[in-house]
Amino acid sequence: MQKNLSRYWEWGRKVVCIGRNYLDHCAELKNPVPKEPLIFLKPTSSYVQEGKPIKIPKGCQNVHHEVELGVVIAKGGSKVLESDAMDLVGGYILALDMTARDWQDKAKSQGKPWSLAKGFDTSCPISSFIPKEKIPNPAEIDLWLNVNGAKKQEGTTKDMIFSIPYLISYISNVMTLEAGDVILTGTPQGVGPVVNGDVIECGISKIINMKFNVESE
Ligand code: MG
Repeated sequence: MQKNLSRYWEWGRKVVCIGRNYLDHCAELKNPVPKEPLIFLKPTSSYVQEGKPIKIPKGCQNVHHEVELGVVIAKGGSKVLESDAMDLVGGYILALDMTARDWQDKAKSQGKPWSLAKGFDTSCPISSFIPKEKIPNPAEIDLWLNVNGAKKQEGTTKDMIFSIPYLISYISNVMTLEAGDVILTGTPQGVGPVVNGDVIECGISKIINMKFNVESE
């Protein structure tokens, strides 16, 4: 039976994330500009949808918001050419790559992986599915995020360092992409902390928006 792509979160098997994919965000965290994509994974258990809160995990003192365009894979592929990559895409989502920045900084300083900092429960808030036709040019859309009504992030996917087709080709050369997988394409500048009681609202141009309350665990 054909699986329903608009319910990708129920059966998709991985979330592949791109770090440092916008120049201005590299600069704000004083990270070097990558020469090739920086890839990490989030578990699908980190998904959370509107109506449920983002929970700051116990022991974390500094959780940051990162608003991102997510790409939902409709058709699997391995070693996909950049010229064929968009054939794999079924649609898009708005997502947050919530990050325990203090845990990530500690891991970075010790040369350890970011799995806990990026993979805690509720670290991947997601919107409903946006069919591919609704975003004919994903390389030219705006992302925005407010905390308690104040603008924090505003960017355009024009400023991505590595394009969506390039990323799909790059990832699939190492890791087979499967239907239902999601690729989070990185965040523009303006990341920052949220605390218990904050409300995050974010959107993709006028196409979709979503709202989450933040709570301490
Ligand atoms: Mg991110």
